[in-house]
Amino acid sequence: MMREASIRGDFPALAQSVHGKPLVYLDNAATTQKPLAVLDAMQRYYLQDNANVHRAAHTLAARATEAMESARSKVAALLNAGASDLIVFTRGTTESINLIASGIEHQLRSGDRILVTALEHHSNFVPWQQCALRSGAKVDVVRVTPEGEIDHDDFAAKLFPETRIVAFAHVSNALGTIHPVNELVSTIRSRCGARIVIDGAQAILHLPVDVRALDIDFYAFSSHKMFGPTGMGVLYGRREALDSLRPSQYGGEMIEHVTMEASTFNVLPFRFEAGTPNIAGAVGLGAAVDYLSSIPRDALLLQEEKLIGQAIAALTAMNGIRLVGRPKERLSVVSFLVEGASAHDVGTLLDQQGIAVRTGHQCTMPLMQSLGISGTVRASFSLYNDTTDVERFVQAMHKTLTFL
Ligand code: PLP
Repeated sequence: MMREASIRGDFPALAQSVHGKPLVYLDNAATTQKPLAVLDAMQRYYLQDNANVHRAAHTLAARATEAMESARSKVAALLNAGASDLIVFTRGTTESINLIASGIEHQLRSGDRILVTALEHHSNFVPWQQCALRSGAKVDVVRVTPEGEIDHDDFAAKLFPETRIVAFAHVSNALGTIHPVNELVSTIRSRCGARIVIDGAQAILHLPVDVRALDIDFYAFSSHKMFGPTGMGVLYGRREALDSLRPSQYGGEMIEHVTMEASTFNVLPFRFEAGTPNIAGAVGLGAAVDYLSSIPRDALLLQEEKLIGQAIAALTAMNGIRLVGRPKERLSVVSFLVEGASAHDVGTLLDQQGIAVRTGHQCTMPLMQSLGISGTVRASFSLYNDTTDVERFVQAMHKTLTFL
């Protein structure tokens, strides 16, 4: 039997008990735990190098600037961005998408259209609704199939010459569906000149992402979903696409020259990074990128896939469980309901047995509305989960069913 590859020992938070039971952490789509390598790098930065970036001539400032810019280069390499000035540091996916939505607004007119899908996280839905409200554009929403996939015919039918932006997730946080980005991008490119925005929050840890090969305009993700710290994120943009955005925050760092009357703005990416940045966050993200390249990611991904298969098989065999979504291509996530019980009660009973899952609308109310449900129980796996986690989860589910 093949031995499981294990990186579990690198994550101190996993070695604890909850309610007297060893923790089984299956809420990875919400946030991942952090390896020691990331925590150490951040602590080392604060202990030795802490200073503000880009401003002072002293040694610590030079070290802090170097630490932040080297993190930017690592992210550029991870995405095959081609240049590190195309990597804008943000607070996370949400801020990255808002940065695009408010920066692009001045280019939109009444009659223009924005296309999103019913599967989007609120972070890739509400900013577009607001952008449309302010600009007079209209939001079209692509239907989702009962399996939890984008309805391709509907997608194609809703691409108009007036469609100026198409925004969709690489991987759905609620159902785990992997969207065929290449295929969707070529459909878009054949029909209109829309900017293509990909929400990569759930993909970045699990899939190789080559932003140039994907032929997209923007790619957004959060560090905390790929073993890095919270409060840190990335917006990649094609140079000409980034250049066309207006900054939405003004102040220090983002200016070139300021007079009593007017200001001019800095070059990319600093134009979009007003104020003192999250330097320790960038250091942590850089360490997370290094950590990812030091582990056998392909083997761990295969293992994760196997675990999801086991969880799905076990849930399918249980009476009273309804799986939500059966996408052909999926990763990390299993969403389900227990007939006659609230998702919240299931989550609470699992927590009492040491199992951490997410319950509720999964920040995807339009999707829940399309599926005719109010929420789900979501177990989401990561590279450090193992067969013991699945076994414990399945045992806990059997026990939970006896209580309900
Ligand atoms: N998009 C997707 C697909 C997500 O899963 C999430 C977080 O759950 C977000 C966007 C928002 O990410 P953040 O809260 O880190 O900005």
